[in-house]
Amino acid sequence: TILSTNTPSEELRRVDAAHHMHPFTNNSELGDKGARVVTRASGCWLTDSDGNRILDAMAGLWCVNIGYGREELAEAAKRQMLELPYYNTFFQTSHVPAIALAARLAELAPGDLNSVFFAGSGSEANDTNLRMVRTYWQAKGQPDRNVIIGRWNGYHGSTVGAMSLGGMKGMHEQGGVLDGIEHIDQPNWWSEGGDMSPDEFGLERARQLEEKILEIGADRVAAFIAEPVQGAGGVIIAPDTYWPEIQRIVDKYGILLIADEVICGFGRTGNWFASQALGLRPHIMTIAKGLSSGYQPIGGSIVCDEVAEVIGGVEFNHGYTYSGHPVACAVALENLRIMEDEKIVERVRDDTGPYLKERFESLGDHPLVGEVKIIGMMGSLALTPNKAIRAPFTSDVGTVGFICRERCFANNLIMRHVGDRMIISPPLVISRDEIDTLVERARLSLDETL
Ligand code: PLP
Repeated sequence: TILSTNTPSEELRRVDAAHHMHPFTNNSELGDKGARVVTRASGCWLTDSDGNRILDAMAGLWCVNIGYGREELAEAAKRQMLELPYYNTFFQTSHVPAIALAARLAELAPGDLNSVFFAGSGSEANDTNLRMVRTYWQAKGQPDRNVIIGRWNGYHGSTVGAMSLGGMKGMHEQGGVLDGIEHIDQPNWWSEGGDMSPDEFGLERARQLEEKILEIGADRVAAFIAEPVQGAGGVIIAPDTYWPEIQRIVDKYGILLIADEVICGFGRTGNWFASQALGLRPHIMTIAKGLSSGYQPIGGSIVCDEVAEVIGGVEFNHGYTYSGHPVACAVALENLRIMEDEKIVERVRDDTGPYLKERFESLGDHPLVGEVKIIGMMGSLALTPNKAIRAPFTSDVGTVGFICRERCFANNLIMRHVGDRMIISPPLVISRDEIDTLVERARLSLDETL
C-alpha cells in the first residue's frame, strides 16, 4: 500500500495499529478509536487526517518554540544538504555548521559555559553528562567521586543512563537502572508540602541534597542533576527558597551542577535559559528541543571552561555518529537567528508571557482547579476535589487528569496531563488571540470533566 496524507483516516489508523509501536502509549487506552493522525501544521495549529484544526498548547513535545511551518528552516536544511549533508567531528575533523553553532551557543550561554559537546537528543546529551562528570573526576585523581544525585519525578530522557538519572519510578521498574545514582525528593509543595509554608518546604527539600551528600560521603559525590523547572513531572515550579539553597550546597561541597535545560532553555521561561532566571551557576547545561525548535533532532551539553579543559586533556571515548550533524546544526543556527531577529525571548518575557500568565491564572477560580503555576510559557493546573485542603483525587489516581485531557482533545486543544496535573507549553510565538482560545477551550474542557 502506498500511504499518503490523502489516505482515508480509517486506513491510516489500521496500518498504524498493525505495525507501529508508539512511545509512552498504552494500546488498551487507545481502544478501537486508534491514534489521532496529524498530517500538517502551521504556526500553533495542527491539522489531523479528519481535517480538524487543533491548537497545540504543548508545542509538540515542548519543542516547536518558533511554531510550525517556517520556510527559512526548510531552506537552511536544503542548502546544507546540498553543500555537505553529512560529515562527522570525530578523530580530529570538524565542519562549519558545528563550529558556528558551538560558537553561537557559547555566546548565548551564561558565565563560562563556553564549550559544546553535541548529541542527537536530550537523552543522549544526559548520557554524555553522566560519563563526562565521572571521567572528569577520574582525570582529577578522584575516581571514587562517581555518585550522581538526581530527583524523584525528574525526567532526563529514556536511554538507560538518562532514565537512571531521572526519577520516574514507572520507568525504573521496566528493565532496571544503573548503579551509583541516588535521588532526593522533588519540590512539589502542592502535593507534598503538608503543613509547611512553601518557603519552609523549599528549604526542607533543598536540604535533602545536603543530607544525601553527607550520607553518601562528600568525597564520593560527582554531580547533582536537575531541571530548573520539572517539565514531564508536571511543570513543578519550586518555591523561591529552593534554588538559592541548592546553589549554596553545591558550592559548599564542590560538586558539579548539571542544569537540564532541555525544556527550559531557549526562551521557554522568558529568558534564554532558566538558570539565568533562577540565579543558578551550572557547570554543565543539557540542551535539545528548542535548540532547533524540533525541526531537526539535536541536543548537546554546554560545558564550563574548567570541565572542558580537563575533559579535553584526556581522550573522552564518547560520541555519536550524529554528534553535530551538519544539517541539524544549520537548522539550529537558523532557528536561533529567527529567535533573535524576531525578539522571541523578549516577547515572552515582556508581552505574551505576562498575558498568558494573567489568562491562565484566571482558571484558578474553576471548582476543579487548585494550584495554578506558570513561568514564561510553561504552566500547570493541579486538579483537586477540595482546594481548601489540597486534596488529591484518591479513587483512581490520574483518571480525572486523563478525562480532562480527553475533553481537551475533543475540543481541539492539545493539553497534556501528568496524573491530575494539566500542563501547557505552547509555541513561544503564540498570539494573544490564540492565548484567549487556549484558555476558553481549557475552561470548557474543565467544565465537561466535572
Ligand atoms: N531532559 C528533559 C528535561 C526532558 O524534558 C527531555 C524530554 O522530554 C529529555 C531530557 C530527553 O530528551 P529527548 O527526548 O530529546 O531524548
